[in-house]
Amino acid sequence: AELGDIANRISIAGTQMHKQRKDLITNRRRLEVIIQHGGLVIYTLDVSGPSLPTLKFMTPNVKDLFGYGPDEVGAVEWRRDYLHPDDQAEPPLTHANLQPGEVVVREYRVRHWLGHYVWIHDCLVIDTAEDGSVEGVGFLIDISERKATNEKLIQASKMESLGRMAAGVAHELNQPLNFISLASQNLHKRLSSGTVDPVYAIDKIERILSQVRRAALIVGQVRTFGRSSTEAAEIVDVADVVADVASLLKGQLDLKGIKLRYDRVDPAMRVRIHPVRLGQVLINLVINARDSILERMETGDSPAMIVISTCQHLGSAEIAVEDTGTGIAADKLALLFEPFFTTKSPKEGTGLGLSVSYGIIAEAGGTIRAENASDGARFVISLPAPGPLSAAA
Ligand code: ADP
Repeated sequence: AELGDIANRISIAGTQMHKQRKDLITNRRRLEVIIQHGGLVIYTLDVSGPSLPTLKFMTPNVKDLFGYGPDEVGAVEWRRDYLHPDDQAEPPLTHANLQPGEVVVREYRVRHWLGHYVWIHDCLVIDTAEDGSVEGVGFLIDISERKATNEKLIQASKMESLGRMAAGVAHELNQPLNFISLASQNLHKRLSSGTVDPVYAIDKIERILSQVRRAALIVGQVRTFGRSSTEAAEIVDVADVVADVASLLKGQLDLKGIKLRYDRVDPAMRVRIHPVRLGQVLINLVINARDSILERMETGDSPAMIVISTCQHLGSAEIAVEDTGTGIAADKLALLFEPFFTTKSPKEGTGLGLSVSYGIIAEAGGTIRAENASDGARFVISLPAPGPLSAAA
């Protein structure tokens, strides 16, 4: 009877094992199908040794991503040979970020076998396996299309800002042009009548040249701003970017009787971001502040002031743009950064500016928030202050 009981149990265990095996095979098959058709490359890293991690396993579909198979990927020095030069600054994997529980998310470009670059989203989780060993399990996705769309959106929003700045820029260019025109007419008159004094002529020509330089500076700034730029983030002096933005916009703000103050910008503040993009965000914020002040002016007197200031706050570098405009209605505060949210007429606004600004700041690892100030609205950009290593770069 006992033997019969044991045989019975063995038979039940056998059936269970058979079922579990079938389930495992089915699950494995499902995973393989998902991996094969989901565009997801899965890999594991050996992180147990004292040296940097080595590739243990990678799904063969990596060939669709880079043009190289798993063996070739494991054999090459990725960082040195295949990583885009602008992404070399990405911090490499170190033992500090290879501890169990760490999740390392990185986005970078890798050179495909055919020569072009592919944008990769790489997510690596450091995990403790069943046997107690520590390994890295990660996945790679091709995000080139998302990056390209993002780039186009940023450029479209930039062009829109340029359009909104156009009248002011034209006005600013008109001033040196008027001066040049008057000075050359005077010079022409004197030269024609033969009464020209060389000292007078040289002085006039120097003034004309200085106005030409002024006009060229304005054109140069507009061109830099309008340029489609895909360069990488770098350490930038916030004060320099603010000064560029101010010189581009000050003339047109003056024209509307709006003062722009930026004397409370810390000259030593540095952040890691693409400088033209930080300029784009600030231009967006200042143009929005201008529009809001103009709207308030229509209904009565407004102090008409925009203040750009900075402060260090809990390891973050904060840049604030504050205005004396209409302020933001409480029910709109949560909607401002939504794409296409606008309270302006279709001729005046598209609702792209703040959502693109949000994306630019998020990509640099920061946040942007809106709040009502004592008299108007305040937008605060918060970016991680670069570490001592990058600050020295
Ligand atoms: P757009 O300026 O094209 O409308 P944005 O995304 O730049 O698009 O701004 C979205 C909306 O946020 C604006 O339409 C406006 O209602 C509000 N807003 C932005 N900046 C300010 C500000 N400084 N003061 C008041 N409202 C603002």
